[in-house]
Amino acid sequence: MLTFDRYVTATTLDEAFDALQATPGARLVAGATDLLPWAREGRAGDVHLPALVDVGAIPALTAVTGEDGVLRIGAATSIAACERHPLLLRDAGLLARCAVWFADDQIREQATLGGNLVNASPAGDTLPALLAMNARVVLAARDGAGIRERAMPLADFITGPGRTRLGNNEILVRIDCDAVPGHGGAFEKVGHRRSLVISTVCLAVLARLEPARRTLADVRIAIGAVGPVPERLGDAETALRGQRPTPAAIREAAVLAADRVRSRSRQEYRREVLVNFVERGLVAALEQCGLAVQRLPQEIVHA
Ligand SMILES: Cc1cc2nc3c(=O)[nH]c(=O)nc-3n(C[C@H](O)[C@H](O)[C@H](O)COP(=O)(O)OP(=O)(O)OC[C@H]3O[C@@H](n4cnc5c(N)ncnc54)[C@H](O)[C@@H]3O)c2cc1C
Repeated sequence: MLTFDRYVTATTLDEAFDALQATPGARLVAGATDLLPWAREGRAGDVHLPALVDVGAIPALTAVTGEDGVLRIGAATSIAACERHPLLLRDAGLLARCAVWFADDQIREQATLGGNLVNASPAGDTLPALLAMNARVVLAARDGAGIRERAMPLADFITGPGRTRLGNNEILVRIDCDAVPGHGGAFEKVGHRRSLVISTVCLAVLARLEPARRTLADVRIAIGAVGPVPERLGDAETALRGQRPTPAAIREAAVLAADRVRSRSRQEYRREVLVNFVERGLVAALEQCGLAVQRLPQEIVHA
């Protein structure tokens, strides 16, 4: 069970830092969709916190702006906002595709991008999507000189299941990533149940054709839930970049993904799903770029 003495709704970063500093042991919270079940289901035993510090009402953490090809997405932006924010729909359609697969309507309204990243579950759905968008996290800390920020690639921020490089006194303020208005995008996910599914395999793909639409100018593929941390498929991306996206080239690149499965459970199943996802995701992303590619006939992918 979760109990706490005080609930502080911060409206500025300074207020949040004040509350965290004033109450040792206070816990930062955004949508609380990870925190509440963690405590309520007894996974952490009985949890009593001196204070919860809610950062979900800080305007800087919910702002979404874009300039010079870079999107700046506040850490407390909800998953639901990814489905309806005009700038995100235009420049980051992949996030909306990912959001559709995320939990249910109620959770999507509460859950935030920042919470999903800091929770650092290998199965976190927004991680592959943001990795494909070359996301960088911006972390803020307060010292005598005021609030200072540091940034690092998302790939460096997540170090293992549930582990990140977030410092003790830091708040994740925003996620900076590439705007990708001209890219086709696809998100694929499979899990154990039909609804409210935690991913067993998930995948995000971005693809852009060069102007004559014969070769791939850019291709990015990121996978989640098949290893300790989500990751980009650099070898498959390199194999495809600058190439004609023929059915055979797509199949060859997809097969490279099979080696990335490191989860011990259901390895064979995950390999087969992953290879099919990469192939299907690339075909879907290219279709959005106006190029129809036929998939080769299905084959079983052996270990
Ligand atoms: C029924 C259900 C279904 C779910 N389905 C999915 C799903 O399909 N896909 C998926 O990926 N996840 C799913 N989740 C998990 C959860 O909703 C997400 O991980 C969510 O994005 C977490 O965001 P939050 O704002 O609720 O985080 P919170 O619970 O508020 O916080 C999570 C952790 O991050 C820290 N934190 C939050 N924001 C910040 C910040 N700005 N700076 C520093 N630290 C911060 C908190 O201190 C806490 O440790 C589901 C959860 C539930 C309960």
